[in-house]
Amino acid sequence: MSPSLLELLERLLEGTGSRKAAQKLRRWQHKWQSRNVNQLILNYIEAETKLRFHVQREARLQAEHDALFLNSSSGSIDDKKTAASTVSRMEALQKKLRSLSEDIWHQERTMDMLQARLCALPLRRALVSCRKDQDWYLSEWMRTECARRRGCCARACGCCRRPRSERRPQHRGHCTAACACCEQSRGFAVTGKDAWEPTQMALTSNPKTLNLYATRLRDAYFFGL
Ligand SMILES: [Zn+2]
Ligand SMILES: [Zn+2]
Ligand SMILES: [Zn+2]
Repeated sequence: MSPSLLELLERLLEGTGSRKAAQKLRRWQHKWQSRNVNQLILNYIEAETKLRFHVQREARLQAEHDALFLNSSSGSIDDKKTAASTVSRMEALQKKLRSLSEDIWHQERTMDMLQARLCALPLRRALVSCRKDQDWYLSEWMRTECARRRGCCARACGCCRRPRSERRPQHRGHCTAACACCEQSRGFAVTGKDAWEPTQMALTSNPKTLNLYATRLRDAYFFGL
């Protein structure tokens, strides 16, 4: 069957509400395409994970900043030393927040660029179709993965289902090491290399042949399967 006929079949399936079947057809085509885009897939997953990490870190720092601001403007701080240290902590937080805003902007651009590099491949059509569903990331496998890492899907708080902050209502997703709710539940902050542990399993995959975990992530991120 020619590629244009396959695309037509994909559209017909989507039009009749069979998105899953259309995505399976795209995955089947993806397996037979000559161009190896596994490195692009891994880069996209990495960029999305970093984006979620930065958004969650921003939400956590913004909440700390707002609490300090409320406290300082309520007039409840009497001694000058405490007032000065509150101001300097708020200034440090503002600096970090500005830098996080930049990081978020860069990760979003990276994701756009990677998507554009997929050109007219079935994988790109799959990604576009997958993102039409705002709840794409709430698939059973992704929720189970989040719960397995003791993320918020393991509890009844519902953090993964709603935006992490009012500032970024379009950003929803599963927990990273920067999730404030998870940190509270764990009782400690995860820092340094450990913060990236969840992505390592996929990113150590050989781009020639994706390992099992990276393949599962690819199916979830690109095909919603
Ligand atoms: Zn969490
Ligand atoms: Zn939570
Ligand atoms: Zn979750």
